[in-house]
Amino acid sequence: MTQESNDRTIRVLDPATVNQIAAGEVVERPASVVKELVENAIDASAGTIRIDITSVQGGIAAIRVTDDGCGMSPADAELAFAPHATSKITKLDDLYSIHTLGFRGEALASIAAVARVTLVTKPRGSSMTAGTRVVVVGGVVNTKGATGAPEGTNVFVEELFFNTPARKKFQKSLNTELARIHGILEGLCLAYPRISFRLFYNNREQLVTERTSQLLDTITRVFGNDYARELLPVSADLPLLSISGYISRPVLSRKSHDHILVSINGRYVTSPSIIAAIREGYGPLLPRGRFPVAFLSLSLDTRLVDINVHPTKKEVRLTKEKEIGEAVRDTVFVTLHHSNLIPDGTIPSPDQSEHKPANVSSTYTVQGVAEPSAPYDIRNMGSEKIAAPVSSVTSHTLFNEPTHTGTVSTDHRLRQTESTGDVIPVTAMVPPMEVIGQVGGVYILAAAPDGELIIIDQHAAHERIFYEKVSRTLAVKHAQELLIPVVIHRTPRDAMLLRELIPALAQEGVIIEEFGSDTFLIRAVPAIMGKCEGPEIIDDLISDLLSCDLERPLSDRERIIRIIACRSAIKAGTVCTYEQSQRIVNQLRATHTPFTCPHGRPTMIRFTRAKLDEMFGRT
Ligand code: ADP
Ligand code: MG
Repeated sequence: MTQESNDRTIRVLDPATVNQIAAGEVVERPASVVKELVENAIDASAGTIRIDITSVQGGIAAIRVTDDGCGMSPADAELAFAPHATSKITKLDDLYSIHTLGFRGEALASIAAVARVTLVTKPRGSSMTAGTRVVVVGGVVNTKGATGAPEGTNVFVEELFFNTPARKKFQKSLNTELARIHGILEGLCLAYPRISFRLFYNNREQLVTERTSQLLDTITRVFGNDYARELLPVSADLPLLSISGYISRPVLSRKSHDHILVSINGRYVTSPSIIAAIREGYGPLLPRGRFPVAFLSLSLDTRLVDINVHPTKKEVRLTKEKEIGEAVRDTVFVTLHHSNLIPDGTIPSPDQSEHKPANVSSTYTVQGVAEPSAPYDIRNMGSEKIAAPVSSVTSHTLFNEPTHTGTVSTDHRLRQTESTGDVIPVTAMVPPMEVIGQVGGVYILAAAPDGELIIIDQHAAHERIFYEKVSRTLAVKHAQELLIPVVIHRTPRDAMLLRELIPALAQEGVIIEEFGSDTFLIRAVPAIMGKCEGPEIIDDLISDLLSCDLERPLSDRERIIRIIACRSAIKAGTVCTYEQSQRIVNQLRATHTPFTCPHGRPTMIRFTRAKLDEMFGRT
């Protein structure tokens, strides 16, 4: 600025400054450039859109978006860079019936205000042999002329933020930026399965989708088979809106709602109210703190959607937001309650890597909580141990003769989780099952009425049962005093952590007193686990609690309950009688969330009769 700083005369800003300020809103970061350019290509009805990102020295150096869309005439090619120049609306009213992603005429002007942009374009089906090339640097047209070009448009952006150093400095790391670009493209790919998207980073292919009319094909391309196989189709034609897409079985869930992608009238949007509605539709079917995966498109009267809330158009304002939310929630609920939610065992298991530690051994560990060890090592259960009883049994029973002490303890645990309140609700989401046998003391085999074979992980199942029981019980009233208090000693660091947890533990019935010099007295334990085991279980519980920092985002209560459930549940490797196995199955059916253990891994998988027939060549 040339004026003195103490000159307070009002003046109209020059267009270049206005554009730079406006650019700040539309072009926050490199990822916003990608979003705007790709949306322009979609609006130009492209069939294929290619995005090339180049990086130099840990920063994004160039972005190129190439499309085979309608292209622009020489006059339009230059006009496109003028602020508020758009071919998409002519008057305010048009906003209420908009079917394009752009309409503000700001993107190209804003990007060109803070970068060097080269646009090469030729109208589709034009008789011209040459296309147009326009170069705009910092908002000023630098070159314009004819050039050889294919039909469609190619926008090349370099030197982003060269004239706004403050913004350049605030760029996050390259990886954060690339992750954002991926996120934006995932949303657009799913909102437009009929367009083929190709993302390249430093000439390496990152994401490619083919043109398809099947959304599931695109989901598979973007998120892989593991997702696709756990998705349930959603389709609802309601008075207010129609909803289509896919939602996940409870077994496929995530720590955040980052894979709930919603588009409204073809526009991929962020809508906290719709995300909340989808989550509500699952109710207790998902563990606390977990979110489903969902890809939903909503179509509604364009007059109910105000997209002109923010320059980036990612937020929308919905008239009848509450009614729309309720419709989404109910649709999700009905879809889940009309589907078989037990994961299909014939397809490889979903990627649980999100909560699987690097070295997954045969005892599955989740989020730092080790499954308690079995009374004897499962891996040492040599074939002769199983083979002997199996060969001597008649017909379909596979039950071992359990040891007496084991049976008593298992009976006790099953009594703890049984109550007259455990009536299987009429709306039980798991079919009645008849137990057939037990494998390796780990899995229960059961048959469902329609000929399905169901395999239940006995520890995961009982953990789920225990967890719900403990959550429902007001434990303070059910603390059981130990005859002889257990003394535990901890390192100073652990002692400090434990001190903080004393009140929360007391709430759940674990009464601990400090005894000086990092020693503690355990006076009482929750009655529900009281008789299950010796005092070591409490020592283990405390160790678990202090070691699972990973679960920090969960409340203390939630962590304590999960650990109590995990420690008290029947362990893998415990040989159960037929009757005990049947009790586990029945108790599981009576839970609210029968499909997953509290950590989110499956409690059961199924093999459909049709699939079994197919595998045996009976079809
Ligand atoms: P908006 O998309 O809001 O209209 P933009 O600044 O993004 O504003 O684009 C301005 C105009 O340039 C668009 O209205 C369109 O006519 C034209 N345009 C931009 N990109 C393309 C493209 N890839 N293909 C054809 N026309 C385009
Ligand atoms: Mg645009």
